Amino acid sequence: MKKISILGATGSIGTQTLDVIKNDKENFELSAISANSNYKKVINIIDEFNPKLVSMVDLKAYDMVKNYCKENNKSTVVLNGVESLVDVATFDDADIVVTSVVGMVGLVPTLKAIEKGKDIALANKETLVVGGDIVTKAAELTKVKLLPVDSEHGAIFQCMQGNHLKDISKIILTASGGPFRNKKREDLIDIKPNDALKHPKWQMGRKISIDSATLMNKGLEVIEAHFLFNMNYDNIQVVVHPESVIHSMIEYNDGSIIAQLASTDMRLPIQYAINYPERKKAVIDKLDFYALKSLSFEKPDMETFKCLKLCYEAGKKGGNMTAILNGANEVAVDLFLNNKISFLQIEEIIERCLNKFEYKSTVDLDTILDTDKKVRKYVFDLYK
Ligand code: NDP
Ligand code: MG
Repeated sequence: MKKISILGATGSIGTQTLDVIKNDKENFELSAISANSNYKKVINIIDEFNPKLVSMVDLKAYDMVKNYCKENNKSTVVLNGVESLVDVATFDDADIVVTSVVGMVGLVPTLKAIEKGKDIALANKETLVVGGDIVTKAAELTKVKLLPVDSEHGAIFQCMQGNHLKDISKIILTASGGPFRNKKREDLIDIKPNDALKHPKWQMGRKISIDSATLMNKGLEVIEAHFLFNMNYDNIQVVVHPESVIHSMIEYNDGSIIAQLASTDMRLPIQYAINYPERKKAVIDKLDFYALKSLSFEKPDMETFKCLKLCYEAGKKGGNMTAILNGANEVAVDLFLNNKISFLQIEEIIERCLNKFEYKSTVDLDTILDTDKKVRKYVFDLYK
């Protein structure tokens, strides 16, 4: 029996993780979960899975869940506040932590889980973007597995099995191109949040949907791949593949390319990560090549979608640059979703922050947290 903690159990990845373990109840037990404010979903999860520990970051939502447990004689312990994410991440009765919280709020709990020796099924890419060096070093030290949940990284991880890192010449990250593929800059001026939230291939949370529309998501994934697979930025290539059937590929030194294909359903990379190295019975629809007919590929347009270019630049510089990039993006996406800035201002804000803040080539956790705080304040103050 594997015991699981989920950070961000009420979100898109959290819900799909619950679906995967529901289909495999003999092998998985849900030990602990966290959420921000969605108390209704948390109450449903408590009724169905009976976790031992729940963290609710929002105070009102905490009160609702706590009262529900009391009135219904539930033994679940309920905690409040952002610090309680660490309690869920380090819960004694869990073997593996699924990090499906959104944003760099996942960094500290992920690090604490690693220090406690928990394997990590990592969906929360912002954690690696801002703290890739310290997270991967901590995992090496404690011999903890960082199992990628992001579909591209899950694909690369699968293509690596039985091969050696040293034999890889290139990682090919596929991208759907997002809802505005083939659009030009003038078409992007009047984009509204609802247009940007409509992804052609994936149903996801709001933040990652906007990141997919700006191609920031692909840029964050380039940085994620750099840290997860210790790969040079020049050897990570993004290829637009609108059908989203090939989830990514590896080119080896001998010219062989190994790809992973499957239907567009996050439950497969989640299932593979939490069962690794085993493979379980499919929870997804299988591919039918007669129905697929053809697959196509394009070069990404980094002049129209500047965020991707900014990610390569910040990633290559390293140090605190990726924390600046990520902090600026998190606030900018929030401002855009609240109709405070336009779509194209997202990249403008990121570029401005990358130029404004002092570059530090090496970083520890305190520097990262401090950088993130300063960048957030700066962007908030600009549009207050
Ligand atoms: P969602 O927005 O759907 O879910 C986010 C989860 O985090 C919810 O449980 C939410 O709680 C919780 N949360 C939000 N803000 C806070 C906070 N400040 N403190 C504590 N908890 C918080 O996101 P997704 O599931 O789409 O994405 C999660 C992560 O996985 C992201 O890093 C994303 O990049 C990555 N990912 C997602 C994919 C997808 O298909 N969705 C694919 C690949 C990667 P509540 O519901 O209460 O607000
Ligand atoms: Mg992805």
